[in-house]
Amino acid sequence: MKVRIDLNICLRAGECYYNHPELFRFSQSGDPEILARELNTPELIKHAKEAAAICPASAIIVED
Ligand code: SF4
Repeated sequence: MKVRIDLNICLRAGECYYNHPELFRFSQSGDPEILARELNTPELIKHAKEAAAICPASAIIVED
């Protein structure tokens, strides 16, 4: 599975990188960056789905 962020709707609120720094980080541009696009462990899949659930803009997409 993979995770991506739709930066067109992201609010730059930071929930993703505050809660899941193993998956996301704050970039110099102010956009969130993905650290692990390929979710190759059950734990990463779980965390990405959690991040998607709490993202206030529904900008985090977890997909096959
Ligand atoms: S939690 Fe959602 S809205 Fe906030 S920075 Fe991350 S992707 Fe953007």
